[in-house]
Amino acid sequence: MSEGLVTVSYIAATILFILSLGGLSNPETARRGNFYGILGMAIAILATVTGPKVTSYVPIIVAMTIGGGVGIYAAKKVKMTEMPELVALMHSLVGLAAVLVGYANYIDPTAVFSGVEKTIHEVEIYVGVLIGAVTFSGSVIAFGKLSGKINGKPMLLPARHILNLGLLVAAIILGKWFLTFEDHGGLLPLLLMTGIALTFGVHMVMAIGGADMPVVVSMLNSYSGWAASATGFMLSNDLLIVTGALVGSSGAILSYIMCKAMNRRFLAVIAGGFGTGGGSAAAGMAPEGEVQPISAEETAEFLRNARNVIIVPGYGMAVAQAQHTVFEITKLLREKGVNVRFAIHPVAGRMPGHMNVLLAEARVPYDIVLEMDEINEDFPETDVAMVIGANDIVNPAAQEDPNSPIAGMPVLEVWKAKTSIVMKRSMASGYAGVDNPLFYKENNKMLFGDAKKMLDEVLKYLQG
Ligand code: NDP
Repeated sequence: MSEGLVTVSYIAATILFILSLGGLSNPETARRGNFYGILGMAIAILATVTGPKVTSYVPIIVAMTIGGGVGIYAAKKVKMTEMPELVALMHSLVGLAAVLVGYANYIDPTAVFSGVEKTIHEVEIYVGVLIGAVTFSGSVIAFGKLSGKINGKPMLLPARHILNLGLLVAAIILGKWFLTFEDHGGLLPLLLMTGIALTFGVHMVMAIGGADMPVVVSMLNSYSGWAASATGFMLSNDLLIVTGALVGSSGAILSYIMCKAMNRRFLAVIAGGFGTGGGSAAAGMAPEGEVQPISAEETAEFLRNARNVIIVPGYGMAVAQAQHTVFEITKLLREKGVNVRFAIHPVAGRMPGHMNVLLAEARVPYDIVLEMDEINEDFPETDVAMVIGANDIVNPAAQEDPNSPIAGMPVLEVWKAKTSIVMKRSMASGYAGVDNPLFYKENNKMLFGDAKKMLDEVLKYLQG
């Protein structure tokens, strides 16, 4: 493929990526958005592989076969609940690629630059390796935290801000040193900076508490975009620069949305320590009241007698894969004239849009799936608020207890409904590790058990 045709293909791919992002912003157009993304990526790969810069196909075919094989295997094998970890792991690979491309570019003997060109080339490499290394180690730690392999509790070193500042200053000084070398001789400062960037990534994500993880996931998403963009600069590939910038900026916007959803400032998130995991009893008020367990039959009775029902899905619905039964119950209740709607908290589950994906998969109509801001005021007029495997996002301590580790985080006010029913297996806390006083409220009932199993029973009683 000629250079001109490659450029045209790249422009087409860029347009398709922009259309894809636009499509993905709405559940009704998400499928189309996904298709545009696939098409854009197929064009991008084809144009790059058949472009004039490629001289040997064998290594590319081998790499694509291995990469594609791993991708297909992972996509088939990974469960929906493991998706956030997989995404974190993929971000780490983008970071690693940026680091490796940076080193390869630096030691490439054919790359001979002088004057300003040399400085620009080396700054690109230095910044690319820096962002890539932070993305890589940060994403590996995020993977560990999301998969439960690393404790969600924030690791707060005594002088952590000074340590971070020290690392930043050291990276800048090493950068100046790196630029003084001739003939690819600056490997030592580059290696030292890589070590610093890796340490910074680990330290930054380790310091972040469970409740702030949604922001971290979207932040690393953004970093991976900037890392790809930096790789694009190193390889002089316009499409990679643009695509990376698209991912980087959309990830940054998502981080902003997540921060707003959690009522947090971005810098405060990076500073770490929110949602201290397990520290609830010490930090917050001990919940008062009695827990009232109910059966599936009683739950069915509550639903049968209700006129307005709001369902609040959370991570537990994803674990139990209960979304299809939830839909069956919704359909049945709606046929009986009950007004059933869904309330979606922006950080419900373990990744942005987690609940929307599950409900869309179960074919729940989009018009009854509402965002927190659209539905939170309706709880006082609601007969039954049914909480399915959610915990942190319905925790009244966020509003009522200023000492709670999640104080100030907006939550769905299910306790304002006439009756709230919480479906979960035990009294265990959620991801942020905070006790939930909702479970002890007078108008709250607990339906203990696996969400899928219990909802199957509820459905049976509703049908009978
Ligand atoms: P939580 O983690 O707060 O609570 C989920 C609850 O589901 C648990 O308390 C658990 O209780 C219950 N559960 C687990 N398995 C089952 C099952 N099979 N059947 C029934 N219940 C089950 O989830 P929420 O959705 O309420 O809140 C999300 C949390 O995750 C927030 O703290 C958020 O900050 C964090 N987070 C969100 C991300 C995002 O992007 N959305 C990313 C990373 C973290 P039990 O064990 O008793 O059953």
